[in-house]
Amino acid sequence: MGAISELNLPVGVLYGDDVLKLFQHARKNGYAIPACNVTSSSTVVAALEAARDQKAPIILQTSQGGAAYFAGKGIKDSAEKREASVAGAVAAAHYIRAIAPIYGVPVVLHTDHCAKKLLPWFDGMLDADEEEFKKSGKPLFSSHMLDLSEESIEENIETCVNYFKRMAPMKQWLEMEIGITGGEEDGVDNSEVDNASLYTQPEDIWQIEQALSPISPYFSIAAGFGNVHGVYAPGNVKLHPELLGKHQAFVAEKLGSKEDKPVFFVFHGGSGSTKKEYTDAISHGVVKVNVDTDLQYAYLTGIRDYVTSNIDYLKTQVGNPDGPNKPNKKKYDPRVWVREGEKTMKARVEEALKDFNASGSI
Ligand SMILES: [Zn+2]
Repeated sequence: MGAISELNLPVGVLYGDDVLKLFQHARKNGYAIPACNVTSSSTVVAALEAARDQKAPIILQTSQGGAAYFAGKGIKDSAEKREASVAGAVAAAHYIRAIAPIYGVPVVLHTDHCAKKLLPWFDGMLDADEEEFKKSGKPLFSSHMLDLSEESIEENIETCVNYFKRMAPMKQWLEMEIGITGGEEDGVDNSEVDNASLYTQPEDIWQIEQALSPISPYFSIAAGFGNVHGVYAPGNVKLHPELLGKHQAFVAEKLGSKEDKPVFFVFHGGSGSTKKEYTDAISHGVVKVNVDTDLQYAYLTGIRDYVTSNIDYLKTQVGNPDGPNKPNKKKYDPRVWVREGEKTMKARVEEALKDFNASGSI
């Protein structure tokens, strides 16, 4: 693989042409970058530590619910303003921008699914992006996702076009979704959606390309190929990553392009998939894979195992099996037990970096 170092990317959060260069490099060299959903400084550093140790780029993203959590569950998040999810996303962005450079890896700072009813969240983040752009010539976030996949394709594309025009002067990346990701995530429940609508058609991809590419080259498509959010019993999910290859061929022919994979694809619902499903999808131009559910579980396991194996040291502040007057402070300090969750999450992110061939790319 051509090393990312050839690209001369800065460390820390990337913007504009650097994001494009990174995704082009991934597509050309057959790797994808894991997108880690973060909800706290603790999950941010776990993901960054994994990227540093695997010498790889990383994508950090907040969902709307994750952003609101960043602000604190005690803050009201009204449907009209989404003040908590806006403030939480902005706070997360400032934190990540400040901390990422000391990990020495390139980072794409992204926000996850924004459905129609959440557009006030998107508006608030774009206001913050534009404010930052005026100051520094860069937006706050590298990239945002719009997900109007539950609406008609016409409304989906029109909404994306309108927002993309606002994002383009900042060279900000847009991820859009077409075709529904099944399952349930963050309050969006698509578990009853019938199977056929989980698969995107090549004509849809071409329609999106025609609408977005005149505005700016900085966009990717989360196309449904049977993906489902969450992890279910084996056999319930039928992924068809080869459909992405058909989309690429269709668009390449329409464009008369020399590039055999002209589209940047995103794989949603990556948790619980097999290494072969990942590598097949990556071979068809997937540059970003979302693995939220597996990371949530991984984060829990370290904390769960710590608590269960130290339970007799955690019931009282003083007194444990070593003596009635022995203090337990060293056991209940959050830096000790939260750290155990960071370690297990970090290990799962490292596994994803290896599975997606991103490990060792810098
Ligand atoms: Zn998703």
